[in-house]
Amino acid sequence: LANRLMHPEDTVIDVNGIKIGGQENIVVIGGPCSVENQEMVIKLAQEVKDAGGVMLRGGAYKPRTSPYAFQGMQTQGILAMVEARNKTGLPIVSELMSSDKIEEFEEHVDIIQIGARNMQNFELLKELGKRTTKPILLKRGFSNTIDEWIMSAEYIMASGNEKVILCERGIRTFETETRNTLDLSVIPIIKEKTHLPIIIDPSHATGDWKLVESASLAAVAAGCDGLIIEVHDNPECAFSDGAQCLKPKKFKSLIDKARKIAQVI
Ligand code: PEP
Ligand code: MN
Repeated sequence: LANRLMHPEDTVIDVNGIKIGGQENIVVIGGPCSVENQEMVIKLAQEVKDAGGVMLRGGAYKPRTSPYAFQGMQTQGILAMVEARNKTGLPIVSELMSSDKIEEFEEHVDIIQIGARNMQNFELLKELGKRTTKPILLKRGFSNTIDEWIMSAEYIMASGNEKVILCERGIRTFETETRNTLDLSVIPIIKEKTHLPIIIDPSHATGDWKLVESASLAAVAAGCDGLIIEVHDNPECAFSDGAQCLKPKKFKSLIDKARKIAQVI
């Protein structure tokens, strides 16, 4: 179902009127790694919007390496995101980790993110196909090949939800200088093999805010359909991923530079 040969036209996914894929335009999604409280996410949503971002990201259920690290605000975090959407009009993207929360996400979230760690949680992927109608942002697992990633998209599509957006977020390599290695070659390869939109997450791909702009501009030049970037007002105090978060001002200047390479809506 994801195969370009069976479906020559690009799939365009419409999220409350914002189109992802198959367009001249690229979309920029910004927001915190974790929703920390309602005020912060409402403030950030407005800053993301003022900078030129068209959607808000924010994790409420967090897949943390340590069980002692902040696990997210859960339902309260989703409701804080909903409040931020009410205030700004920005559609919201958040990560789902287990199938018992599908109804909550189906009701409240505009794009359901499946994180790198769950890319091959096949039972969850099948449930998404059966029980959701919302677009699914499927991140590439950090040790998965492109064909494995496409097969995970296929699981969701074959079970009934064909609205899949692929997201490259860096893979594990021998390199230790960056958190992950951004695999930019996926952009033309995914476009050749599939008809699905592909967006890039330069924040997790690099792990370092200083590298986020160049990774983003390179991805835009390579023809991605969008970017999803972590933004925080006070990265030093972020509950998660502070080292890779951009301040709103830097996020805006990145978007301004991206506009010189491609049309950004
Ligand atoms: C995230 O988006 O905050 C996240 C945990 O991403 P990934 O699944 O790519 O690590
Ligand atoms: Mn993060």
